[in-house]
Amino acid sequence: MTTTVLTYTCPMHRQVRQPGPGSCPHCGMALVAEGQRFALLRHMFSSPAHVAVMVAVMAALMAAVMMMLA
Ligand SMILES: [Zn+2]
Repeated sequence: MTTTVLTYTCPMHRQVRQPGPGSCPHCGMALVAEGQRFALLRHMFSSPAHVAVMVAVMAALMAAVMMMLA
């Protein structure tokens, strides 16, 4: 039986790494398990449709933010 040690990192600060869940000392975001994060990325980029949806959602969010700031 192997023991998998998950490293938790901040999505915004890659230098933040710790062996358990917590929050980032820089921005306070919840840390994510590294393996899970890469699995999600792999899943996202495994299909062009996922990438297209992601880009569309990000563009819509940017447009919404721009309109709020204008
Ligand atoms: Zn952070």
